[in-house]
Amino acid sequence: MDMIDLHMHSSASDGTDSPAELMAKAKATGLGAVALTDHDTLAGLADAEQAARRLGLKFIPGCEISTTSEFGSHHILGLWTPGNNPWLNQFLTDARIRRQNRNVKMLAKLKKLGMELTPPDLYGHSLDSLGRPHMAAAMLKKGYVKNLPEAFDKYLGKNGLAHVPKDSPAPESAIKILSQAGATVVWAHPLLRPMARDILEKLIKSFSRAGLSGLEVWHSEQSKESSDLLLKLARKYGLAPTGGSDYHGGTKPDIKPGIGKNNLHIPMEILANLENSRLKRGLPC
Ligand code: AMP
Ligand code: ZN
Ligand code: FE
Ligand code: FE
Repeated sequence: MDMIDLHMHSSASDGTDSPAELMAKAKATGLGAVALTDHDTLAGLADAEQAARRLGLKFIPGCEISTTSEFGSHHILGLWTPGNNPWLNQFLTDARIRRQNRNVKMLAKLKKLGMELTPPDLYGHSLDSLGRPHMAAAMLKKGYVKNLPEAFDKYLGKNGLAHVPKDSPAPESAIKILSQAGATVVWAHPLLRPMARDILEKLIKSFSRAGLSGLEVWHSEQSKESSDLLLKLARKYGLAPTGGSDYHGGTKPDIKPGIGKNNLHIPMEILANLENSRLKRGLPC
């Protein structure tokens, strides 16, 4: 019961397990605490919380917001996100509307390429926060591609024939909204893609001014060298180290809750440290 996972996706966004199934898997793996952090939505939190309570699993409500700066795309995690903050809810609603607008444009491009998909084709799991993984799954189902990597490489990825860039908010805006709503704000997988050290530190400083309180040091797809550097920077800038698998279910079958690709093993002390910081700031856990 010592292991935790603070970054997981359900069918409320682009994961394939329902929130309740996800909690059951986390419990079966022996995790002691988990956060559900779906992309741009809080829609799975109520079901997950109820299932976790039944299972005796500690649950932290969260979300992951996609943002863009001049240096690329950055994912921002909110932990202990409230369900009833009107500014946060509006911010997430706007993000989902931008997703839908982009989806419509990408579906039009796919249609021109001879691959017809209707919005309901994307609904397989989620009705709420749809994106490219749903398109890839629908393309595979219809036989337009042989596998998911082919869908991204040829059509949906950055250099793909049907790609449309995402219109996302600045990271500092997402961080401010989350922080003002009382969430603990964490920069997710900062080094998933290579970034020069000076830019990394420049962004950490700017994000910290906006209300960042943690760095995701441990992540399934981040190297040991990256984790070592991030832990050093977390200490240097007074940010809490966090970690999670970024589990998505069937679309990333080699990633397991709590374990990641082999041995993530985020210990319970990481959560205790986050809770202590919240208590010191008078925030609920
Ligand atoms: P979206 O939010 O619609 O832009 O989709 C982003 C998600 O698509 C990411 O979180 C990944 O899970 C997935 N994704 C992006 N690029 C690739 C890729 N080349 N291969 C597989 N999945 C990808
Ligand atoms: Zn995802
Ligand atoms: Fe992410
Ligand atoms: Fe994620």
